[in-house]
Amino acid sequence: MTSDPEDLGQRMYRLIEELYPVCRSITGEGLRETLRRVQRDVPILLHEIPSGTAVFDWTVPPEWNIRDAWIERGGKRIVDFRASNLHVVSYSTPVRRRMTLAELRPHLFSLPDRPDWIPYRTAYWSESWGFCLSHRLLESLPEGDYEVCIDSTLAPGSLTYGECLVPGASTDEVLISCHTCHPSLANDNLSALAVAIELARRAMSEPRALSYRFLFLPGTIGSIAWLARNEADLGRIKHGLVLSCLGNRGPVTYKRSRRGDASVDRAAAHVLGEAGLGTRVRAFVPYGYDERQYCSPGFDLPVGCLTRTPNGEFPEYHTSADNLDLVAPRPLADSYETVTRILEILEQDRRYVRTDPRGEPQLGRRGLYQGVAGARQLPQYELALLWVLNLADNRHSLRDIADRAGLPFALVAEAAAALLAKDLIREA
Ligand code: ZN
Repeated sequence: MTSDPEDLGQRMYRLIEELYPVCRSITGEGLRETLRRVQRDVPILLHEIPSGTAVFDWTVPPEWNIRDAWIERGGKRIVDFRASNLHVVSYSTPVRRRMTLAELRPHLFSLPDRPDWIPYRTAYWSESWGFCLSHRLLESLPEGDYEVCIDSTLAPGSLTYGECLVPGASTDEVLISCHTCHPSLANDNLSALAVAIELARRAMSEPRALSYRFLFLPGTIGSIAWLARNEADLGRIKHGLVLSCLGNRGPVTYKRSRRGDASVDRAAAHVLGEAGLGTRVRAFVPYGYDERQYCSPGFDLPVGCLTRTPNGEFPEYHTSADNLDLVAPRPLADSYETVTRILEILEQDRRYVRTDPRGEPQLGRRGLYQGVAGARQLPQYELALLWVLNLADNRHSLRDIADRAGLPFALVAEAAAALLAKDLIREA
């Protein structure tokens, strides 16, 4: 195993390739198959919640499974589930009948402004069925009779989600959550699943100050079910990130938690600021992914959302064009790197006080200040020493200091470590 960014990006991309063909939904075998694949890399526990279980205002739906589906004319399949699982509206009820185009037409969905793409549609909460197809194909369908088949089942079963806790020195937790319910869509959201796996491997690879809880769950109903089952323990969650759409080439975007000024919000704003992406930090809106549930008023957890181009803002969103060409190893590796920097701040951020706050200590005497003698990190490193010494007053954390000084967090943390080693500061 390597953490070389190039290899890491390639490994994440290969996982996306492997999982791309699987027909996932909010329940069913495709979701389980995906979570079992995650288990090969990360020891997630698979939880099964029976259909019919009440979770807050929702009920776990019947389990949906599909084997095949098609629209046939003259003995020839013109729409074929085996060619793309997006062709079937997710959660379609079973159908097997002969019908005219006029009868079939209300069940067909296309994108007139993107005539070659297949849309992604779902019908989780309404008993209905439908097919998605390119507008070009839809327009070319002649009048006449069609054989229509959706070989699906909606039956009592369960909703599956995967969860893994990587314990750290503290029981304070960082929640990392991604949705795993989309069929053949690459950026939304196999990209985040791949990044979350690598983050979990990293968390497991060495001791951590904080504990990390990874959730791989179907969107909305999955996070609501998880919250309902873990309501008593939510106080442990001190920081959180919902990850989504992390594989396309657009710039990274961070959406703040509902609180707006949680530590994770400040850490993410710092990291994006360092990367020159300060304008990509956005205020919370109650739309998007599972942050909607974590940040509902009854919980108000400090959970933000990290994406590259956010949902709905790239043309390929929820269409067949969100495919393996839209995502690439390099942005995946960059997304991973961005999250690890945010987590490093959460791990290392501390408040310090000066051992003796009167005047500046004599740094040269302690080998910390080299003037013009040509040390590796001049002059920013020495500047960082002076900033930490000045703001080590129990009111400013290292991240506050880095923000105020306009210096990278890692440099400020390194300066603090050096000052700590010389007993010039101590933890507040
Ligand atoms: Zn989506």
